[in-house]
Amino acid sequence: MDPLVNRTRAAVWHPCTQMKQLEAAPPLAIARGEGAWLIDPDGRRYLDAISSWWVNLFGHCNPRINAAIIDQLGKIEHVMLAGATHAPVVELSERLAELTGLGHAFYGSDGASATEIALKMSAHYWRNSGRPEKNGFISLKNGYHGETVGALSVTDIPLFKDTYAPLLRHSVQVPTPDARLAEPGETAEAYALRCADALEAHLAENAATTAAFIVEPLVQGAAGMAMYHPAYLTRARELCDQYQVHLIADEIAVGFGRTGTMFACEQATAPPFASPLSPYAIRPDFICLSKGITGGYLPLSAVLTTDDVYAAFYGDATARGFLHSHSYTGNPLACRAALAVLDIFEHDQVIAANRSKSIEFTAALAEVAAHPRVRHFRHLGMIWAFDVADATPGFSTRFHRAALALGMFIRPIGHTVYVMPPYVTGADDMRSLAGAMLRCLDNPAI
Ligand SMILES: *Cc1c(COP(=O)(O)O)cnc(C)c1O
Repeated sequence: MDPLVNRTRAAVWHPCTQMKQLEAAPPLAIARGEGAWLIDPDGRRYLDAISSWWVNLFGHCNPRINAAIIDQLGKIEHVMLAGATHAPVVELSERLAELTGLGHAFYGSDGASATEIALKMSAHYWRNSGRPEKNGFISLKNGYHGETVGALSVTDIPLFKDTYAPLLRHSVQVPTPDARLAEPGETAEAYALRCADALEAHLAENAATTAAFIVEPLVQGAAGMAMYHPAYLTRARELCDQYQVHLIADEIAVGFGRTGTMFACEQATAPPFASPLSPYAIRPDFICLSKGITGGYLPLSAVLTTDDVYAAFYGDATARGFLHSHSYTGNPLACRAALAVLDIFEHDQVIAANRSKSIEFTAALAEVAAHPRVRHFRHLGMIWAFDVADATPGFSTRFHRAALALGMFIRPIGHTVYVMPPYVTGADDMRSLAGAMLRCLDNPAI
């Protein structure tokens, strides 16, 4: 075993981990990365099939992102963004505005801080608009928006939330349109619209005290890659307009091409002129971005919003402004990594290229989808997931260990196995991944 493993157990408190379990299941020591592959100190290779917790887009040690960061290192590594500005943050804000149809980018360092920013901005907007009682939040059942105290308040994953319940502010969860929950014979769309009716019922009673509805568009990641019909988002947009409640799109996991479009909201159709994303796409009031934004290189998050929201903060009174800050807001190195990522999207026409990859990879997974233990095989863009019917306690750890022995880094969520590989993954690698998953499924002891 690599000596790092004992040292990490003594010195590092690992995230989302019962540390005692590291005795039986030591963490993988990684020495370097190359494209979609992680390489341990002995040179063994593991396919990063979940993109290092969904952040990596264009592989590890990507020469173009490396070059951008190195260039920026020779200029300015960081300067505070209160009272100063710099080209990378200005250019990134301009380009994100062009892509999202929103603007006034406000930066944080992680996804959870983007959630905090959006929630605070929304409530502060209503306060500045003379309606301070509009400060409640709605989110979806099984939703995930991060784990700081504010973000956890709108998260609905019991394992993460229950322990801290006394610290959290009350929020309301409405039924999730997760297509797996449709009645037999009911389409995903019909079920989504039925859930939207429940949202409407809640809004009809509570809009006067509600600031915003926060959602993960199309895919609830931490819930186990729960996918739902875009009609839900279309209807949610209409209802939020009708009841004067902000719609916050948490695209932290699904943004930057994961669902097959640059942003998942683009797949929810609306009457023309709704959004510059596409003339037929809904436009949220806030969009939260992180994870893939830097291609998995550096921590960065951004919240963009409408001119209307921005205008409500603009004035002579200091307290009317959005007085929120993080030390590393708009870090130039992170912004340059993000700009390099946007360059790659444009130059390599990544969204179009992924369309054919997505079809090819789905074909590579056909045997997995047809496996007798597999239920609810689902797929959207560059995400594939399925549930294992007879999974017993400990399934996810056993599957993870068995896949690791086959050179595949996968971490199931409960009884859901999912893969969301970096976009640079090749078809041969995807076939190897499918083969490894089949071997794990064929083993009844897993
Ligand atoms: C990961 C995630 C977050 C939190 O991001 P962190 O960087 O882990 O704080 C928030 N929302 C969604 C949808 C996520 O997937």
